[in-house]
Amino acid sequence: MIQEKDRIIRELNDEITKIKDIQELQNVKAKYTGKKGILTALMKNISSVEPENRKNYGMEVNSLKEEIENIINEKTEEIKKSEKEKQEMKNWVDVTADGAKKISGREHLIMKVMRESFEIFTNLGFTVVEGNEIEEPWFNFDALNTPKWHPARDMQDTFYIDEEHLLRTHTSAVQIRTMMKHQPPIAVVSSGRTYRKDEIDATHSAMFHQFEGLYIDKNVNVGHLKKFLEIYAQKMFGSNLKVLLRPSFFPFVEPGFEVDVSCISCGGKGCSVCKNTGWIEVLGAGLVHPNVLRNVGFDPEKWQGLAFGIGIERIAMLKYGISNMRELFKNDIRFIE
Ligand SMILES: [Zn+2]
Repeated sequence: MIQEKDRIIRELNDEITKIKDIQELQNVKAKYTGKKGILTALMKNISSVEPENRKNYGMEVNSLKEEIENIINEKTEEIKKSEKEKQEMKNWVDVTADGAKKISGREHLIMKVMRESFEIFTNLGFTVVEGNEIEEPWFNFDALNTPKWHPARDMQDTFYIDEEHLLRTHTSAVQIRTMMKHQPPIAVVSSGRTYRKDEIDATHSAMFHQFEGLYIDKNVNVGHLKKFLEIYAQKMFGSNLKVLLRPSFFPFVEPGFEVDVSCISCGGKGCSVCKNTGWIEVLGAGLVHPNVLRNVGFDPEKWQGLAFGIGIERIAMLKYGISNMRELFKNDIRFIE
């Protein structure tokens, strides 16, 4: 019996070490202590034992039963403990860990340049006004001294919604709407989307953003215009920047100018960015054409004005060294970041 007992315990220990969960343990427990288990079989066997040895045999079986139950109970505790630990690990929270990262937005370069442009001019006393993206041809062209025969008015060159409505080709229509509502002196800036039927390439887009300024007062001259643009360019690009006005033609100004700033890359010495000229064209400007003033009922003998239109994309590209305008509209989060 002793030998038998040792063998049973050994086998049980072997089985127990491989067990990983309660279900497996239940099976082993049934195999040893169940109704059809090893212990029951041993007890039934008592009838075949010599009567004088039966008491001894019964005690042996009972002590074996106790030992088996101890081993199984110990294992039950062990499994319960490890399962509890597993559960705790699952629910474990590291209170010292970094919080979940919030993805926060970032100001788009177009919006940044627009906001900074507004800041520069509102600090000079200009007021921000808003215009319409869908304009009537009279506000977009006629009132701005751009008669019917002007090529810019061609149906093929502009996005017409119908004969009486088009997507504005510049923010200058805001000038007209402002002058029709307010008497001089006027100092306003406006910005927003404008549309042209341009082929899309590295420096052109069918939709782009303009920043427009209008100043109407007595005795306004080109000196005022140059000073405003110098302040703008220096605040935007750096205090040592120079501004150059080159005569140019826009129907709504007289005289009109293309406005250059000294090259941001080379400081004016000449490089590939400025095509060795030392200057970079940034905007168009001029003194408001007397016909435009007459169109809104102002007397050009009494009032003069200056106006300028700045391409926001152009400024953003120069300021942040972007060579392809399309990057600004691709919405690639890596670029925006
Ligand atoms: Zn240069």
